[in-house]
Amino acid sequence: MLDWSDTATAVKAPLPIPTSQDSAHPTGLDAIDRSGGRVSIDEKRMINCRADVNQLLPMKYKWAWEKYLAGCNNHWMPTEVSMQADIALWKSKDGLTEDERRAIKRNLGFFAASESLVANNIVLAIYRHLTNPECRQYLLRQSFEEAVHTHTFQYIVESLGLDEGELFNMYREVPSITEKAAWALKHTQHLDDPDFKTGTLEADQAFLRDLVAFYVIFEGMWFYTGFAQILSLGRRNKMVGIAEQYQYILRDESIHLNFGIDVINQIKIENPHLWTSAFQEEVRDMIRTAAELEASYGRDTMPRGFLGLNAALCETYMHFIANRRCAQIGLASVFDETDNPFPWMSEAMDLKKEKNFFETRVIEYQNGGALTWE
Ligand code: MN
Ligand code: FE
Repeated sequence: MLDWSDTATAVKAPLPIPTSQDSAHPTGLDAIDRSGGRVSIDEKRMINCRADVNQLLPMKYKWAWEKYLAGCNNHWMPTEVSMQADIALWKSKDGLTEDERRAIKRNLGFFAASESLVANNIVLAIYRHLTNPECRQYLLRQSFEEAVHTHTFQYIVESLGLDEGELFNMYREVPSITEKAAWALKHTQHLDDPDFKTGTLEADQAFLRDLVAFYVIFEGMWFYTGFAQILSLGRRNKMVGIAEQYQYILRDESIHLNFGIDVINQIKIENPHLWTSAFQEEVRDMIRTAAELEASYGRDTMPRGFLGLNAALCETYMHFIANRRCAQIGLASVFDETDNPFPWMSEAMDLKKEKNFFETRVIEYQNGGALTWE
């Protein structure tokens, strides 16, 4: 039984920190080293690995491979979900309040561009510097899932006849969404520089910041309030097709998040010099700032709130999630302890148990054993 709720057992194999003369680590596309030896487990490292990154076996990080398999077992496509009820509701005159429409549109707009930002970060920034083949195998799977998620928003726009320009430009045109995207982009921009190389304290910490910004914050915090908003409507039998798609996205994102947490924790084990107390404070500040950006987004998106959902509840939920994320990467909480205002979110995450959650047509996808969702 796979359980992502706890950090996977990390392999403790402290290895020497690379010296500056071998800081040029392989991408996997270098000229073939014909006299190079076969890679042993001891030579494998998350970052700055000098061993051949094309040798998946022998495998060192089993947790990465397990997540790759779980992702494959969760395969789904947005077009398998019926949009009929959503179309009828969206086109009806009084099925949704103006406030509900505003929240739905902004939520869709936030996700539509965010899935693309997350995908680009994996492919163009993280992949190059994560020098381990089993982790790269998972990144390849995750990249495809991000494509499926972007496809979901294309399918929703087409089904509901939404203004595609409005939705896909919200990340540029709606300030509360732009602020979040711009904050995250700051952390990926210099990794995207072709001259950026890991192997120094400064660069390796920059890489960790990018992992925190995208896995812990973007996917692990902001996406969760986004899911809660739509699933809350789904619980009231509104936009049930979108809500069902969000459940599948949530199931995928839960693995993305937990992969990111395992990656961060494993890098910490192998490179303890990176995780200074000053750096820990910096990461806690990132998480605090991200929660504040989310709170502003909530107030902008739900100025008055509606049944079961408002900006204050979303802010409390963000505090609850932020503290949980801190614990998962070994940091002290950033907010006062609070109860989860959306206890039903944990049920929504368990598709198997709640397959009649929205009483829509649900395809019972094979899923990777009994997963415990965080
Ligand atoms: Mn995604
Ligand atoms: Fe993701």
